[in-house]
Amino acid sequence: MKFSDLGLSPKILQAIEELGYETPTPIQENAIPPILEGRDLVGSAQTGTGKTAAFALPALHRLGEHGGCRALALAPTRELAIQIEENFIKYGKFLDLRMALLYGGVKYGKQLEQLSNEPDVVVATPGRLLDHLSQGNVSLKNIEILILDEVDRMLDMGFIEDVTKIIQKTPRSRQTLLFSATIPDSVRRLSSWALNNPAEAKIDIKISAADTVSHALYPVPAIQKFDLLIALLEKVNFDNLIIFFQTRRGTDKISHWLTEHGQTVRVLHSDLKQRDRMSALEEFKQGKVKILCATDVASRGLDITNVTHVINYDVPQHSEDYVHRIGRTGRARTEGEAFTLCKPEELSLVDSIEKLLGNPLPRKIVEDFPYRSEPSTLTQTVPVVSRKRNRGFGGQLTFGGRRKR
Ligand code: AMP
Repeated sequence: MKFSDLGLSPKILQAIEELGYETPTPIQENAIPPILEGRDLVGSAQTGTGKTAAFALPALHRLGEHGGCRALALAPTRELAIQIEENFIKYGKFLDLRMALLYGGVKYGKQLEQLSNEPDVVVATPGRLLDHLSQGNVSLKNIEILILDEVDRMLDMGFIEDVTKIIQKTPRSRQTLLFSATIPDSVRRLSSWALNNPAEAKIDIKISAADTVSHALYPVPAIQKFDLLIALLEKVNFDNLIIFFQTRRGTDKISHWLTEHGQTVRVLHSDLKQRDRMSALEEFKQGKVKILCATDVASRGLDITNVTHVINYDVPQHSEDYVHRIGRTGRARTEGEAFTLCKPEELSLVDSIEKLLGNPLPRKIVEDFPYRSEPSTLTQTVPVVSRKRNRGFGGQLTFGGRRKR
């Protein structure tokens, strides 16, 4: 299928062509036609599948030319909101449409200026949008298209009341587009309350997670995790690498140690000021630094291209977060590698990740690394591992046949 088959306006097709997109991604093929028809839609797709364009392109098409505040996109984090707005600007380059971007942690000045300029599209995080609404700086009474992005994340972050309040301030006649990487019951409930007979566009998480990214699990004694990370960094030929951590403290500590080992890194987590988060992200995006140490703040939604490698220093607590983290690499059909360091205590978390992926993560060892325990013994403490799953690891938990002898 070509973009021109989807019925998008010539000005939008021109912007897409300039960006060098050749064909629509599966979520775009599935979502764009019903959105253009004016239907509500539930899209279950993770980032990296082209989902932003899947809603932004048809929304821009339906807005056409300038005419006041008619589209609202809600996102859970500032970073994601920024990215959505950037996409609206790129795809709407040849349209006479105005955007406003509203998120917390910064002053109101620029946002007020954008709001006074009669934006057609408002992209916002819930808290700051409610502030502006309570101050009468913006009205949602003419909203025609409401986009709720990363809804599972939004609800996880406790935004359900804010989101509900915001939805209630928009007209019932609106078109509502809901995107979520996963559709747990809470998202389903919101969807059945806020959407009207929605079309569904589902891109199976398994396909996008496994397709372009090769995965590897490195079992390691807890005490040697940092040493193994250093050994991996020496062996792996990365251009841009994100290392994910469970906690902010862990991120700070290990990034400090990495710096002491001569690596140049930037840090991204929610304790940092917005300005520092933005500059870390910018320097990483521009390739000025090659390693970004981050908590899960960076794992959802962020469109950072050319990430060749992701390392999970800690196994994520929630299996969906694994998919989000590794979704930072292998984006839009480029290849990537995802490594997960795993101490024995974390193996039960690996089990649920493998269930979500539908595949075992291949066990690997770093050759010549002075393991304090025989690496194969590190996987024998798995509390519950079915026989069937063991076979997937190569018969006897032997790290895909590369067992150290
Ligand atoms: P998203 O999943 O929306 O974060 O998009 C991931 C990346 O894919 C972004 O860098 C987009 O610019 C890019 N992208 C979106 N659609 C396409 C497409 N049809 N062809 C190539 N790249 C795309």
